[in-house]
Amino acid sequence: MHDHAHAHDPSRDHDLDDATYDLLVVGSANADLVVGVERRPAPGETVLGSDLVTHPGGKGANQSVAAARLGARTALLARVGDDAHGRLLLDSQRAAGADTVGVLVGGAPTGVALITVDPSGDNSIVVSPGANARLTPEDIRAAGSLLAASRVVSTQLEIPVESVTEVVRTLPATARFVLNPSPPAPLPDEVLAACDPLVVNEHEARYILGDDAAPGDSPEDWARALLTLGPRSVVITLGARGALTADGSGSPVTVPSPKVDAVDTTGAGDAFTAALAWRLGLGEELPTAAAYAARVGATSVTRQGAQESYPTADEVAGQMEGQVEGA
Ligand code: ADP
Repeated sequence: MHDHAHAHDPSRDHDLDDATYDLLVVGSANADLVVGVERRPAPGETVLGSDLVTHPGGKGANQSVAAARLGARTALLARVGDDAHGRLLLDSQRAAGADTVGVLVGGAPTGVALITVDPSGDNSIVVSPGANARLTPEDIRAAGSLLAASRVVSTQLEIPVESVTEVVRTLPATARFVLNPSPPAPLPDEVLAACDPLVVNEHEARYILGDDAAPGDSPEDWARALLTLGPRSVVITLGARGALTADGSGSPVTVPSPKVDAVDTTGAGDAFTAALAWRLGLGEELPTAAAYAARVGATSVTRQGAQESYPTADEVAGQMEGQVEGA
């Protein structure tokens, strides 16, 4: 049904030219509430922590900001509460240049991640999904015109899986579907079959493959095994080692990540996926788009935070020059 040569199909190019958005992200928006602690409280105990720091976050909101910062025409379809956290998230989207026409307001408090960080840098996180859990299949259907106006639609699993399934059903034939199944959960076959690509880290690959992860237990083996589950293509992110791409047309391709001094890897996967989805929508081949995404991910880990750490296209280009000069 799906033709992998579509990037060169002129009828498809026409459809792409009509698109209003390079990327529509359908996903979560959370306020990240961060407190530093000397140690975590035991049950019944109270400990004092540092001043509260509040960041805009959530995988959907992060991806949308990452793409918009790079210059992609980006929109976010999400749900936030009618509260201060919701306004913080809307503000950060607008500041990055993302269109918030698809951000629904109300129904529940904005999702929050309650994060404690200990002196070793380890996080403990409680997520209250709040409004994210109320982004329903009906909301997706009602946003049909937004989906129809987008080259690529990217989702994650911090919203109900039924809503992700509805995205797949509502998607126009001209649009490309990208899924980062995080946090991992069982996926309907029709969702797996639509992924082009399915973007997973090592943990997510192992979750989806379950007992099938065994054979050679290398990323190449996982990529081949994941392809047998139905996605049109697969990308496995490998942290500092970069990423692996596979579309079944040949052997999996390894894409290196630039060597950088990592300061904070929070949100690197979201930046990677957003950049990948955008570049694929521009017509780049999978390994080329993944190589660009790896540079974006690498740049983001050189700075603190998630959304605050995302580079512009100029900064990504500068990072590349630094590589060449340093070589
Ligand atoms: P996730 O955050 O979802 O687990 P990864 O840790 O694999 O995802 O990171 C996503 C991408 O970000 C990687 O493919 C890589 O390009 C980049 N990246 C992450 N950590 C580093 C690092 N320490 N050095 C260079 N690039 C990195």
